[in-house]
This record gives sequence, C-alpha cells and structure tokens, in this order.
Amino acid sequence: MSEKKDFLEYYDEMIIHYQYSVGEISKFFLEVKNNGKLFGTRCTKCGFGFFPPRINCHKCYEPCEWVELSGKGEIIAGTLAHFGVSNFTQVVPITIAFIKMDEMDMAIRHTVVMDSKDLSMDNLKKGTRVKVQFRPKNEREGKITDFYFVLDK
Ligand SMILES: [Zn+2]
Repeated sequence: MSEKKDFLEYYDEMIIHYQYSVGEISKFFLEVKNNGKLFGTRCTKCGFGFFPPRINCHKCYEPCEWVELSGKGEIIAGTLAHFGVSNFTQVVPITIAFIKMDEMDMAIRHTVVMDSKDLSMDNLKKGTRVKVQFRPKNEREGKITDFYFVLDK
C-alpha cells in the first residue's frame, strides 16, 4: 500500500493555437467551401464508393479517384436527439442520420434539418430520400458543417 503524499497543485490555463492539414482529402473540403459541391471517392480496382471520401480503398488498398456526387441519397438509419453541439445547438431537437449517397456504398453520419411540422421519426426511416444543402458561401469554412441534408420531397 502506497503512502498518501501531499503535492502542491496550481490551477492554470493553457491556450493552444494550432493548425492542421486534412492532407489529400483537402479536395473534398475545398469543393464544399468554394463551389458548393460534394465529392466522394471510388476505388480504381473494386469500384467501392466512399463518402466520406477515402484516398485508398479499405478493402483492397488500391488508390481511389474523385467522383462528383448528385447530392441526393437516402437515410440508412436515423434518430432524434434533444441536445446538440457545434452549429446545430440552435435547432434542437436535431436529427442524427446515416445517409448513403446514391453513387456511393458507405454512409456518412450527418444531420437532416426539418421544419417542426416534418420533424418526426417517420421522416427518419430507412429509405427516406434526402438531398444536400450548403450553407451560404460567405458562411462556409471548409468544414463538415458547411452542409447538411433536407428531405427530398
Ligand atoms: Zn477496392
């Protein structure tokens, strides 16, 4: 059994400014920010479609090529959350959905923004059609929150 010791501790703050690169995935964020376009990637060997994009296929490790997407897809699974973080705190409850774009094979976890009259689990069922919406260009930062989804009615 160890002896309990008294250590002197000080309260302090650490402010860190940092910069990071998204590397070879930069095209995805730059297209969203500058052109309001969604791109996924497709494996050059097996054809598997990745959205969010990947540079190399997770199945056969071959390189992927960029594919411009239509912006349309469907919900694979979804739910309602009654608290939110980031850019969506002002619109709780929020939706959390896995969305598979029409041209792709993987799903992305994102938000489907709905009017209060549409906001229900019925509109988050598997197979519900959705389409992308981009924030106004002057508000985009090159982040995943620069776009969201709405019902494609
Ligand atoms: Zn592959």
